[in-house]
Amino acid sequence: MVKKIRLTNKLIQETLIEAVGEDTLVVIDFLKNRKNISEFVIGEKINVEIHQVRNMLYRLHQRHLATYKRKKDSKKGYYISYWTFNKKRIKDLVLEIHREKLLTLRERLVREEQNKGCFFLCSNACARLDFDQSSELDFRCPECGSLLQQQDNERTIEHLKQKIKELEIFA
Ligand SMILES: [Zn+2]
Repeated sequence: MVKKIRLTNKLIQETLIEAVGEDTLVVIDFLKNRKNISEFVIGEKINVEIHQVRNMLYRLHQRHLATYKRKKDSKKGYYISYWTFNKKRIKDLVLEIHREKLLTLRERLVREEQNKGCFFLCSNACARLDFDQSSELDFRCPECGSLLQQQDNERTIEHLKQKIKELEIFA
């Protein structure tokens, strides 16, 4: 049975962190009930340098979480962008991130199953490689040179299956 995702604050927060990074939460928090705020004002209010603010805003824009208008400042003579947070987008984004997560897990599961019992691990935990990659390196770690150990990935496979099952309940 497929349940509808409930938009709890926790889920929204986790989604935003996953989609745009934890550092932007402070921007979202400042922008969420405001409109057309200058990038410079945002930087000032959250106490972050302008190039960093622009980077955060760019990430929000990429995920369609914020829109902007550019206006030429008549005094300063250059363009300034004015930002608005797109609250309506959150619900779709939660679903989008959910699907992306599922897809990534399914792809990992396929790779694990294709290489069942045939992963190779460095004892110093620098690398985990499949058979082809390992044999090319003569079963030596590419980082530290120690001999790679064959790993039974049964538990990884079980773990992935379990996580996929948990996520598949929701759509
Ligand atoms: Zn190593």
